[in-house]
Amino acid sequence: MQTVSMYLNCGAITEADCELTIEGSPDEVEQSALEHLIAAHGLSDSPHLRIEVRAALEMPPPLVPTAGRVILDVHDLPRGEPCTLSFTGPPGEVAHAAFSHEVRAHRRAPTIELEDEIRLSLRAEVPATYSAGV
Ligand SMILES: [Zn+2]
Ligand SMILES: [Zn+2]
Repeated sequence: MQTVSMYLNCGAITEADCELTIEGSPDEVEQSALEHLIAAHGLSDSPHLRIEVRAALEMPPPLVPTAGRVILDVHDLPRGEPCTLSFTGPPGEVAHAAFSHEVRAHRRAPTIELEDEIRLSLRAEVPATYSAGV
């Protein structure tokens, strides 16, 4: 089975001024997006919301560097497991989404140590990732 990387821009769903983007395998992106929408935007889980999230999945666009945005690849964490997800956006949103993902999908304990690990793994967004064809 080939793994397709999909991309979700939170602002496309909430129309809120939210810059979090999530990229990875479609199932993981969908699950992390739901967690984020519920935790950060106060939406409630419903079949309708899941349909909306699935409909908003896109192919990754060319990455445009923007000041203040950071990226976190889950597999870059010191104790990271093989994982396709990456989060991009303002540091606070990225750290929060990654924390929820680690706890749920990788069964990490929700500790201060995990928070630190995530915070130390945030790096400035690198625009070269999708430079092909630009
Ligand atoms: Zn958001
Ligand atoms: Zn993961």
